[in-house]
This record gives sequence, structure tokens and C-alpha cells, in this order.
Amino acid sequence: MGGMGECSLSVLLLHVRYRLSSAGISPSVVETEMIVGHVLGLKRSEIYSQAQRRVTPEETAVVMGLVELRMGRFPLQYLLGECEFMSLPFTMREGVFIARPETEILVEAVIERVEAGGKPVRRILDIATGSGIIGISLARYLKPDLVVVTDICRDAVEIARANAILNRVEPVTQLMVGDRLDPLRQGWATGFDVVVCNPPYVETDEIPGLEPEIRAFEPLVALDGGPDGLRFIDGILPGISSILKEGGLVAFEIGATQGPRVKALFEHAGLARVEIVKDLARLDRVVLGRRS
Ligand code: GLN
Repeated sequence: MGGMGECSLSVLLLHVRYRLSSAGISPSVVETEMIVGHVLGLKRSEIYSQAQRRVTPEETAVVMGLVELRMGRFPLQYLLGECEFMSLPFTMREGVFIARPETEILVEAVIERVEAGGKPVRRILDIATGSGIIGISLARYLKPDLVVVTDICRDAVEIARANAILNRVEPVTQLMVGDRLDPLRQGWATGFDVVVCNPPYVETDEIPGLEPEIRAFEPLVALDGGPDGLRFIDGILPGISSILKEGGLVAFEIGATQGPRVKALFEHAGLARVEIVKDLARLDRVVLGRRS
């Protein structure tokens, strides 16, 4: 918005919304409120009660800089540097996989089963954690003695560390850099009550068809599950039983068409009481099993 001087917040909101919707960004109202609120330090609920407030040219320039990036499909969570997951705050940074709302289904399914079991969990493992959302939210809600989180990407582990500090679970969180189960080779990290993982599970052929935000900006290593999407899952399942306590719970996020195949892989790996949990769109989203 070159040349736009001082204006009211309501004019700025209209202008931003127009720019975003003309670039095909939707829902433009929500994104407008989030970007403008972020720059002005206002909660979304406060924005409209202050609609007549004056906005300085400097504030406008910062907002429009972010809007330009967003119009180029740069993901909103990277722009804002934060996102919410399981009602907890998380820091986010370019290069690290962005938390998806569907992943809350995985976390909720684990919490429900642990609570139904009636026994406290002592050790949790989150493999390929990305920004740490799964392990850290389980640490907050289940209060284990130890959560081990691993990721192949050092940047991801650094963001996960920041998020463990932000959510005050750093004292119980052990962060490790490495691929799949490699970081656990040292041997002390075993006897887990719960093992969780949101692996890369998108079929390689489907990656070009993903939204531009994902395809162009998110780390491929966090998405690409090989030709059938199951390469990562298939690679680690055989090793999981040996690090799981008897009766321990395993939960993986999966793609919508992968339920029956992943269930079969769980059973083949000797896991019992295997179940598929669907998401709000009634699509297969999570597979759970137990070490018998
Ligand atoms: N659900 C994610 C997506 O389609 C994929 C996540 C993953 O591979 N873990 O963007």
C-alpha cells in the first residue's frame, strides 16, 4: 500500500482483506485479523472495538510487508512465528513442519486411552517431532517423568527446545537429533509407556498436488513418505516393540487411505488391540496399538 499515510484501523482492515482475497487467500477475514492483530499487539476480539483507532504509516508498512509475503503463499504460521496446538502456544519458524489441527486427534486419542487405563505414564517418546507439538502437549497433559523427542533436523530440535521452555516442560524433556530410532541406540532410552509419531506419510506422487504453502515452503523430509507413503512407518515399526513397555501404547498419524495397510503393519510387528481413529471429516487419521 505504497503512499498510504495515517489511516484508521477499519480502513487498514478493509484494505488488507481486499489484498488477501484478491490473491485467493482464504479465509481472508481470519487471516486479516491475525496479521493486523499480530502487528498492532491486539487480540482478534479487540480489533473491532478499536476500529476507529489511528494506525501510523510505519505500522501500515509493517502490516503490508507481511501481506505481500502472504500473497506469495508464504505460510501464515511462519509469518507470525507462532501457532496454537491443543490450546497451548508454540513458536514456529521457516524450515520446520507446521502443526496441523488434525494432529490434535492423535494427541487426544492417546490422552483418552492413558486416562482410561488409570495408570500414570512415566516415559513418552515422540519420533520425528518437528516443532515438538505432540511430545510437549503430552508432557503438559499427562505429566510424565520423561519425554524424549527426536528429529533428523537440527533446526526442528532447536524450535522444539524453545517450545519445551515456553510450555515449562523443559526439565522433563530430552531432545535428540537423529533419524528414526537412531538416537535411541545408546540404550538408556527404553521402557516407554507411550510412543507417538506423525511421520512423513504423503505419497511422493501426491506432493506436486499439495497446496503451494506446503509444497513450496515446508520441509519435504517431513512430508514425503515414499511411493506408497509408508516408507517411514514400515521402517520403524519393527524396532518399536523392543523399546516399549509391556502393555505400552503406540500411536501414529496416517494418511486418509492408509488405515487398513498401517493396521496390517502394526499387527505384523506383533502389536495387539490395533484400532483406527477417524478425524472430524470421517477419514482415517490415527492408528493405535499396544505391546501385549
Ligand atoms: N497432513 C499433512 C499434509 O497433508 C501431511 C503430514 C505428514 O506427512 N505427516 O499436509
